[in-house]
Amino acid sequence: MKTLHVVLLLGLGFGLVAQADALTSSAEQKGFIEALSGVTQLGVGGLPNVLSQRFSDSPEIQTTAQYLKAKYDELGIQAGIADYDPMDAFPYYFQNTDKTYRSYFVHMMPMLRLDFDGLCGGTLPNDKLDAVLKRIKRVGLEKTAFCAVAPGDRVETYISTTINHSTSITKKLLAERTQTTWPNVLAYLATGENGGEVFERPVCVIGAHMDSVAREGGGRGPIISPATLAPGADDNGSGTAAVLTLARGLRDWLAQAKPQNIKCDIIFAHFSGEEEGLIGSIAFARLMMKRPILWMVNFDMIAYNGSPERHEPILNVGYDKTFGRDTADYFAGSADKVTALIIERETFIYSSDQIAFWDIGVPGVSISEQACSNAKCDSPFKFFNPNLHTPGDVAGILDYEYAANIIDHSFGGLKRLLTGTRN
Ligand SMILES: [Zn+2]
Repeated sequence: MKTLHVVLLLGLGFGLVAQADALTSSAEQKGFIEALSGVTQLGVGGLPNVLSQRFSDSPEIQTTAQYLKAKYDELGIQAGIADYDPMDAFPYYFQNTDKTYRSYFVHMMPMLRLDFDGLCGGTLPNDKLDAVLKRIKRVGLEKTAFCAVAPGDRVETYISTTINHSTSITKKLLAERTQTTWPNVLAYLATGENGGEVFERPVCVIGAHMDSVAREGGGRGPIISPATLAPGADDNGSGTAAVLTLARGLRDWLAQAKPQNIKCDIIFAHFSGEEEGLIGSIAFARLMMKRPILWMVNFDMIAYNGSPERHEPILNVGYDKTFGRDTADYFAGSADKVTALIIERETFIYSSDQIAFWDIGVPGVSISEQACSNAKCDSPFKFFNPNLHTPGDVAGILDYEYAANIIDHSFGGLKRLLTGTRN
């Protein structure tokens, strides 16, 4: 609380720091995230009381979809569960995986080169040796054969092997899945005056994936769900709660402020299959949506505060320069209780559902907690949620005031995007 007090004083003194509309509270976000990640009673008509995981290929993902549909019903916003066959999305998944993985590994290349030279040169300390051996074995590489590769080609060999290994695992998972179809939840908010126009207008998508996953060793290790539970409080209970909250805020804003000349209707989309390779958002973007999409804003992991000591908390706004910076600039606006740091895809990116929209030529931004603390993003993993994709990603490790401030800021950003005004 001390920090906020200082900021407010400063604001009063110099009138520098604008305050975002307070749309939500830490208590509201805690309630949503606990309901989604298994700490408290769900309390919606007969649903089981503990939802300790939301793996796409499990019955719990349907329970999650019903919970979200019930929440939109409570808000009086039209919503439905759109089931899809994940195998129909696979061909598109295969296309963008190579690009996504390479933009993920770009940060690790210098470290990988050092590790592999040390491994093959016999100069790695024991603890490091185990870790590096485990990393190559995990994707099916064997030390002798790997070290026979020319030193300059080892990193590329590792990356292309990892991509082939991951896509073959995903293909096997989809082919052997237990659930025939997987759900997306889609809610629709018309913004046009003329009812007859609805369903003809372009749409703007505000989304977040609802599924969770447990992986061996966390990170990008092999999938061990559903045998190992994955509460996914931050990833992505927090993004799911953000979209639900923003739906309520935008509903009220449209009804009260009656803004004019909004060029799109709004779809609030909750995707499954993100952890298996953006399968749900690919199915939505490539197979379900037949209308023009003006832009997409994706929320993924917004509640883990990697540097609580910071006076001005940061949120990251990821964009792809192919589409220019406008969407990111409109969304970011000026600093308030949080500062929006705009990061280009090639600098660092959370590989998440916005990519499925970039791939069909739709401008979009990804909104996330602080991974990058400066524009160069020199040490992204320093602030990363260390519990990613593990049973440790629980409601108790999150900073709800931080999440609430990111949502308040995002509310302003979405209004700027919808009205096409910069402030
Ligand atoms: Zn995620």
